[in-house]
Amino acid sequence: MTRTSSNAIEVAIVGGGIAGLAAAAFLRKYPQYNITIFERRREDDEEHSSGLALRDGGKAIMKKLGITREEVGASPGAGYRTYTINEDLLAESRLPEGSDGDSPMWLLSRGDLKDALFRRATSEDGKGKPAKIVYNSHIVRVDPDTGTIHFANATSIHADLIIGADGIHSKVRSAIIPESHPQPAPCGISLYRFMLPMETFENAVKAGDHTPVMFQFNEDESFILMVAATDGSNCTLCCYPCEGHKTMNVACGIFDSSAQTPEELEYSWQAKGKKEELKAIYHMFPEWFTRVLDQVPEVALFQIRDQDPLPIYFKHQTVLIGDAAHAILPLGAQGANQALEDAEGLDALLADVTDVNKISDRLALWDSIRRPRAAATQRTARGFESVLSSKANQDKVLASKPFVEMRVLAGM
Ligand SMILES: Cc1cc2nc3c(=O)[nH]c(=O)nc-3n(C[C@H](O)[C@H](O)[C@H](O)COP(=O)(O)OP(=O)(O)OC[C@H]3O[C@@H](n4cnc5c(N)ncnc54)[C@H](O)[C@@H]3O)c2cc1C
Repeated sequence: MTRTSSNAIEVAIVGGGIAGLAAAAFLRKYPQYNITIFERRREDDEEHSSGLALRDGGKAIMKKLGITREEVGASPGAGYRTYTINEDLLAESRLPEGSDGDSPMWLLSRGDLKDALFRRATSEDGKGKPAKIVYNSHIVRVDPDTGTIHFANATSIHADLIIGADGIHSKVRSAIIPESHPQPAPCGISLYRFMLPMETFENAVKAGDHTPVMFQFNEDESFILMVAATDGSNCTLCCYPCEGHKTMNVACGIFDSSAQTPEELEYSWQAKGKKEELKAIYHMFPEWFTRVLDQVPEVALFQIRDQDPLPIYFKHQTVLIGDAAHAILPLGAQGANQALEDAEGLDALLADVTDVNKISDRLALWDSIRRPRAAATQRTARGFESVLSSKANQDKVLASKPFVEMRVLAGM
C-alpha cells in the first residue's frame, strides 16, 4: 500500500462526475486539502450527453463557483408546457423568476455542465491548489476502517478523507451500508433518448409552411415541452433546447411492458435502443415524429430505476455524495441539483477542518442535515412516477397544470 505524503489532508474523490467534480471545485480553495479525483473513464472517452434542468438551488451553486449561464450554454427555461399530439395546449406553468432576475431554470447538457465544473476543479487559475484527476482508475473496493482505496490493477492508496462520488453503481456505497439494503430497482418506465442539432429538428417538424404550434420556439424564453398522446399509453415526448439553443434534447417515455424485449432493458444512459421499436410504440404520433426519428442516427434506451433512501451516508472518514448516496428517478429533474447541493454542503462543513480527527464528526453532521433532505427529494420523485403510472392519474395531471399539480398529487 502506498501512503500519500505530507501534512496536508489527503482527499480522494472516487468518480469524476457532476458530484465529484463539484466537490473538488469547492474544496480546492482550502490550503489544507490535497485533492485527487480517481475516475474510471479514460481521458479521451466521449461524454454521452443529454439534457438536464437546473433549478434554483443548482443555479445558485453554479454561480457560487463563478459559472454563468453563458459559459454552460444554458437556455433560459421559463417553465413547462404540455400539448396534445393535435397541437392543443393542455397546460402551461410558468415558474417564478429568481430574485436576481435570472430565468427560473437553466436547460443545459450534462457535458457542458461537467466541462465547466472540470475547469473550476482542475485549472491552475483559481483559488488554492488545483485538484488532480487520475483517469483509468477503476476502484473495486474501499475500506473505511483503514481509509484504503483498492484499484482493479491490485494497487491501493490511503486517504484521510474518501468522498464516494461514483454514481448509482457505487462501489464505495457497499462499504458503508448493510448488504441487506435493497439495490436500485426498475420503476416500470423507460426513456428513449436522443439529441439532434436544432436546425435539423426544426426542419424535420415542419411540413411545408406549417410548423406545429408547440415547436414555434423563442430563443429568449424556452419551455420544457411535453407532447402527450393522452390515450393512457404513457407516450409522452419531452424536449427542450440546450448547448446554446443549438441542440434539441428529446426523451420519449414508455411503459417497460410496451418494449418488445422488456427483460433486455438496461439501467444505462448509454444503452442502445431500437428506432423501429420507438416508431411502433409511438405509432399514434403525427408524421413530424417519424420525420424527426428519420434524422436520428441512433437512439438510447434508459430504464428508470431508483433506490430506497439509505440508512447512512458515511463511515469514519468515508462519505457518499451524488447518485452513490441518493440515486433518484429523473422525473423530478433533481439528480444534478442534488449532486451540486452535496458538494456545497461539504464546502460549508469542511472549510475549517485542519485536524483529520475532526473529519468524522463533521461527516456525521453533514449526514444529519443532507440525508433527510435528499431522502425527501427521492420520495417526491417517486410520487411523480406513480402519478404517471396509470391512465387515470395521467389524465388528472394532463388536464391540469403539469408539475405544479404533480407536486400536489405527489404530496410535496
Ligand atoms: C451519461 C449520463 C447521462 C445522464 N443523463 C441524465 C439526464 O438526462 N437527466 C437526469 O436527470 N440525470 C441524468 N443523469 C444522471 C445525473 O447526471 C446524475 O444524477 C448526476 O450527474 C449525479 O452525479 P454523480 O456525480 O453522482 O454521478 P455520475 O454523474 O453518474 O458520475 C459518477 C462518476 O463515477 C465514475 N465511476 C463509476 N464507478 C467508478 C469506479 N468504480 N471507479 C472510479 N470511477 C467510477 C463514473 O465513470 C462517473 O464519471 C445522467 C448520468 C449519466 C452518467
